[in-house]
Amino acid sequence: MASFFIQDLNRKKDIGANCLSVKFGAFHFIVDAGMDPKTLGNEALPCFSALSPNSVDFILITHCHLDHLGALPILSKQQPQAQILISLPTSLLAPLMLKNSASVMTRQKEEKDVPDYPLFGKEDIAALQKKFFVLKPGKTYCLEKDGQTAKVTIYTAGHVLGAVSVLIEYEGRRLFITGDILFSDQNSLRGAQIPQFGNPDVLLLETTRGDTERTALRRDEETRLLGIIRKTIKRGGICLIPAFALGRIQELLVLFYQAKKAHKLPDCPIYCSGLGMSLVSAFDKMGRRFPDVHFSRQILKQLNVKQLRKRKIDPKTTKLNVPAIYLLSSGMLAEHTPAYNIAACLLKDNKNTVCFVGHCDEDTPGGRLQRVEPNGNFKFEDLNYTTPVRAKIERFDLSGHADRDDLYQFVLAQQPKTVVLTHGDANARQWFFEKLSVHKSDFSVVDPDIGKTYEL
Ligand SMILES: [Zn+2]
Ligand SMILES: [Zn+2]
Repeated sequence: MASFFIQDLNRKKDIGANCLSVKFGAFHFIVDAGMDPKTLGNEALPCFSALSPNSVDFILITHCHLDHLGALPILSKQQPQAQILISLPTSLLAPLMLKNSASVMTRQKEEKDVPDYPLFGKEDIAALQKKFFVLKPGKTYCLEKDGQTAKVTIYTAGHVLGAVSVLIEYEGRRLFITGDILFSDQNSLRGAQIPQFGNPDVLLLETTRGDTERTALRRDEETRLLGIIRKTIKRGGICLIPAFALGRIQELLVLFYQAKKAHKLPDCPIYCSGLGMSLVSAFDKMGRRFPDVHFSRQILKQLNVKQLRKRKIDPKTTKLNVPAIYLLSSGMLAEHTPAYNIAACLLKDNKNTVCFVGHCDEDTPGGRLQRVEPNGNFKFEDLNYTTPVRAKIERFDLSGHADRDDLYQFVLAQQPKTVVLTHGDANARQWFFEKLSVHKSDFSVVDPDIGKTYEL
């Protein structure tokens, strides 16, 4: 019987730099080639040194977040023969995300003293695009090598525009990879569409929210967010919403558009900027093409969205227009981003509110700001500026990842023979490991060690 040989090439047992090596028969697939957003330099890459030169046949990219895509130009350069399997939206978004990443690295070269930066340039991104082979969700493709055939099918996975789950079939055995997945619908995107194919031999499961219990429904969180925005604007304040450029900003724009139609959004300017706005064209194009994507650039007009002008920010003197909504990247208030600079200008005023709508890593400025005690101070290291925190800080659970209970139910419904855990920190994996191990008479659970190859 054929086996799948699976090796996690992420250097950390964390979300980090996602990259999975899958070998079976004559085939060698790599699923995702991410860059660890918390690490600098070559250490941020997956362990590509474990791959023999010219050994990879196909690189499959599940979606465009940099923890899945960021190292693709480097992997593709090292494995020039490998074709890149990708969904249509991802093929449009990937070059934009990678160009942005290259310019961030160019800036960090001096600033953070990383001589290797940038790890790739425009020409690498252009070379990469020639190797894209676009797959349609739900259609099965037969791939050949040395007289052997493997079948690959992708399915839309919710999460973010272009995100897919993957089914690989070889000699009657099936490997299913969830990728980052969300089953419920978002305002801008339909939830995952995974058929009940039943009994995959191996199910690779993302575990991001294993350590998070949902306390409020998504709809209720959206209603609460709109309520806080109304209150802030009514008292003449600014509402800053730091959000991820890919997916979250567009999702919130659709939410605001629907709220406006229902008279639940106050009349005030909305300022946007950064990468989130550069991605709007791709979202608009996909919105016209796919009924599952609910986005049109028209809503920017209807909402009267204004581009935030690029300017030098001096938090002591810069005056912001009030009242207003600022919907800006990055979601974790990373240094040098519009959200970081605007936050520096508004924390001192108790009329203002900062609304975090996604996960913030503990060591990021966003994570640190959420831990500031009442009446405490916050230092914006890169601006060398400390401010009292008088603005209200709010958090909302609007994650693009499936709740742990939904994933648990998904595993039970699919009845795999083996479940392999990925894409989660230690506590998240632990929750899934314990919860799923109760069913060990039905299937086994593997929490893979870094670099170790498992025959499944
Ligand atoms: Zn993702
Ligand atoms: Zn991810």
